Amino acid sequence: MLEADGRSACFDCLFPAPGSAICSVLAAEVGAAVTAAACLRLHGDQRTDAPELYAAGDVILGLDRISHAMGAGGVAVTTIGIDLAQQPPLRR
Ligand SMILES: Cc1cc2nc3c(=O)[nH]c(=O)nc-3n(C[C@H](O)[C@H](O)[C@H](O)COP(=O)(O)OP(=O)(O)OC[C@H]3O[C@@H](n4cnc5c(N)ncnc54)[C@H](O)[C@@H]3O)c2cc1C
Repeated sequence: MLEADGRSACFDCLFPAPGSAICSVLAAEVGAAVTAAACLRLHGDQRTDAPELYAAGDVILGLDRISHAMGAGGVAVTTIGIDLAQQPPLRR
């Protein structure tokens, strides 16, 4: 492998870790609390500090993995259902 300064180096193993860019600005603008790393803070069952705003996936503080995002999404859906059930039904 050739390095930027022109020297060569060899490795047994390379593990790329590109990371992710957290897009939490809009959530923060409507009242969700964020960490220093811009991740959304939750206070139980995927609820953010903003009313009726739920979060899952890389935008929340925690493990950045597909399985974690899917599981948290399932919890968020269940929580939304529970919270909606507390409100009187809309009759049109
Ligand atoms: C290079 C790389 C390799 C990875 N490999 C693995 C792996 O092997 N196994 C694993 O479990 N995890 C892996 N991950 C992590 C995994 O991809 C994430 O944890 C997971 O995708 C998070 O899901 P998410 O729904 O939060 O975000 P995402 O999957 O990123 O989905 C967010 C979606 O929102 C869309 N979006 C963004 N902004 C807007 C907007 N303003 N309007 C509309 N849509 C918007 C994006 O286009 C995107 O489709 C990897 C991540 C990276 C970067």
